[in-house]
Amino acid sequence: MKQANFYPGPSRVYSNITEYIYEAYMDGIMSINHRSQEFMSMMAETKKVLHAKLEIPEDYEIVFTSSATECWEILAQSLTPQISQHFYNGAFGEKWADYAANIVEVIKTPFGLNELLPIGEISDETDLICVTQSETSNATQVPMDVMRSLREKSAGKLIAVDVTSSIGGAMIDYSTADVWYGSVQKCLGMPAGMGIMLLSPAAVKEAERIGENAHYNSLLKLIENTKKNQTSYTPNVLNIFLLYKTQSVSKGMDYIAAKLEKRMEAYEELFDGMDDFTNLVENQEVRSSTVLAVKTTAPEKIKAKALERGIVLGSGYGAWKPSTFRIANFPAIKAKEVEKLLSFFAKYY
Ligand SMILES: *Cc1c(COP(=O)(O)O)cnc(C)c1O
Repeated sequence: MKQANFYPGPSRVYSNITEYIYEAYMDGIMSINHRSQEFMSMMAETKKVLHAKLEIPEDYEIVFTSSATECWEILAQSLTPQISQHFYNGAFGEKWADYAANIVEVIKTPFGLNELLPIGEISDETDLICVTQSETSNATQVPMDVMRSLREKSAGKLIAVDVTSSIGGAMIDYSTADVWYGSVQKCLGMPAGMGIMLLSPAAVKEAERIGENAHYNSLLKLIENTKKNQTSYTPNVLNIFLLYKTQSVSKGMDYIAAKLEKRMEAYEELFDGMDDFTNLVENQEVRSSTVLAVKTTAPEKIKAKALERGIVLGSGYGAWKPSTFRIANFPAIKAKEVEKLLSFFAKYY
């Protein structure tokens, strides 16, 4: 890798990816038929490894999609009879609400950057509660104890959660919601082009009750197929294989989450000691452990200077673009790349 890539997705891929791609080529994985026994076995093994390494409850189904964006549409089209309510404080959560609004009625419930998700505002009318657990645009997260309270206060309503920039990088209590989804190019350290969605038994039941079956990516079709260890359409077989291989050798969530928290502490300590850098998120309780947004006066200059030294920093997102840069704290990033980043700032600022 020529550059140390801290862009919050796509970011660095796991370094053994090249080896696995070679293996996939040599073993003919790239050209297997997705209805073949070989594929079905690989899909079954991949789901098994994901359940084990990501600590996904046994009774949650796993389906593969093309992206997190596709999941936004699937949930509106197949799991929302009429209304979805969207809690968000940043660009990805708002985008999800806007996509859903093309298909169903939405209730938008925005909240402040440093605030906890306002559980008291759950609407009686909503069919689906939508939460962006890790808001990549501003480096906030919805902590797991808030997810637990949301579960308690939501009176049996289905909850769907975007974990695109935390799945595979942070501890997630999957029992607190019914649908969890993300794409693979962030904390899972994979080449882009695939999404995964986890479904609780209640979510599966509701999809079956609704029975929406009019689209190539109708949730019902995805569920029926995954139960047979197949997919509705020819999937990204190579990425399924790469996910299987990379997760098979994963050291597990305890190890990964602890490693990332430690790195985040090092970044916070560094920037705390510097004049022109502050954490965009003042409330420590809602800071993400997988993305950091740093407020500063001239982010473009800093990014350019870092790039000259082989370090790719992430731009700020949307409204925060002129005043922040972002640092991905994803598991595939190497310790020596973290060192390089820390010493860059220590030396020049
Ligand atoms: C990156 C990201 C997405 C979009 O992912 P795609 O793979 O481009 O669909 C959605 N939500 C969040 C929180 C993200 O970080």
